[in-house]
Amino acid sequence: MDAQTVVELSGMTKRYGGVTAVRDLSFSVRRGEFFSILGPSGCGKSTTLRTIAGFESVSEGSIELNGTNITDTPAHQRETGMVFQGYALFPHKTVGENVGFGLKMDGVPQSERENRVTDMLATVNLDGFEQRMPSELSGGQQQRVALARALVIEPSVLLLDEPLAALDLQLRQDMRLELQRIQDRLDITTIYVTHDQEEALSMSDRILVLDSGKSQQIDTPRQLYNNPNNQFVADFIGEANVLQTRFKSADKNVIQLEPEFSSMETVSVMENGFEGSAFSQGEQVYLNIRPEDIDIHPLHESPGDGLTAEITNKTFIGKTTQFVAAVGDGQEILAEASGLAAQQSIDTGDMVSLTWSRDDCTVIGGHAWVLSNHAGGQRIHMNSLVSQSKHGSSDGHHTFHSYNSSLGSSG
Ligand code: ADP
Repeated sequence: MDAQTVVELSGMTKRYGGVTAVRDLSFSVRRGEFFSILGPSGCGKSTTLRTIAGFESVSEGSIELNGTNITDTPAHQRETGMVFQGYALFPHKTVGENVGFGLKMDGVPQSERENRVTDMLATVNLDGFEQRMPSELSGGQQQRVALARALVIEPSVLLLDEPLAALDLQLRQDMRLELQRIQDRLDITTIYVTHDQEEALSMSDRILVLDSGKSQQIDTPRQLYNNPNNQFVADFIGEANVLQTRFKSADKNVIQLEPEFSSMETVSVMENGFEGSAFSQGEQVYLNIRPEDIDIHPLHESPGDGLTAEITNKTFIGKTTQFVAAVGDGQEILAEASGLAAQQSIDTGDMVSLTWSRDDCTVIGGHAWVLSNHAGGQRIHMNSLVSQSKHGSSDGHHTFHSYNSSLGSSG
């Protein structure tokens, strides 16, 4: 464990009777890092956090804090501060007594205690609230008190379990910024549990994506979004189109796919340094494209490149317009256009051509997401989805064979 590592989980498994809540989980969190654990309800986020806090024992594996094995250390002897979704303030104690509770337990003298409580209340923007009762505070204010209570003991790591979930949208967004400001200012190592991808993407240095108790990917928000390891991550982080297709062949830097979603016979994809061994011929793979990366052109205006599709739905959602487009085999593609041109010129029932640029799609192995260890795995980054050949075959099918230009117009 290097000096910058504050928390390290190694092969942590947690079982409740016959239920395995977390399976063989390993990750480390660096000093000052804002690290989020993201996943759907029931995936094991809280359980993971609670084992770090010491509220749950682990079934297998170990947990280290600042280089010390704390796997069997009682919760109150761990240097962790935890904030829960429901605040868990003492209702009959004042704000000051709530915040100072941990210090009192630690035997910190009263005058020092009062100073530290006052300072911490100022940090969370609750100056002068010492004598208030929790019932006299709004939800957001109660959450700040809970945060101050966790921070005042100067923990090695701050553990936050969906701390904003009980707040309404506006307050949640304000508190997000507030939390980031405090975390940044105190430079405190933070582990943040949430099921809200927007929250995780906007606040975190790195994110661990969990599904069914298993790690799916640990990466920066940008990497998770642009280079998901597997289908689960691609679906869970942002919106992704997932088109089922088959791997045909690979030669040097070019991958050939046999799309079942269009009349085209082959799609070629360029990849730097592709080894050609990741997939076998005929294997089912998935082509991923984000809605915002797709360009829509009326078919009659398109130069002939791209996927032909019919618009089945058009929804104006403020900044952008979402289009649902059905391709050859009935699979639907979601495309999002921010420009006025597409919003005004394309309607439900129109035939369109969908294009995207060379950097914007990925191919993921069909079964990659079922495996427990995805490191490396079957992920392939694609740099180019190539343009359609102008020389269609006699039955009207087209062949993709060039990879010098992208399918999209912008490549
Ligand atoms: P999350 O925080 O991601 O919503 P949890 O960590 O709370 O998920 O739960 C993970 C799994 O472990 C779930 O299937 C849940 O039902 C189970 N679980 C959690 N706590 C207990 C418990 N005390 N006893 C039995 N099963 C539990």
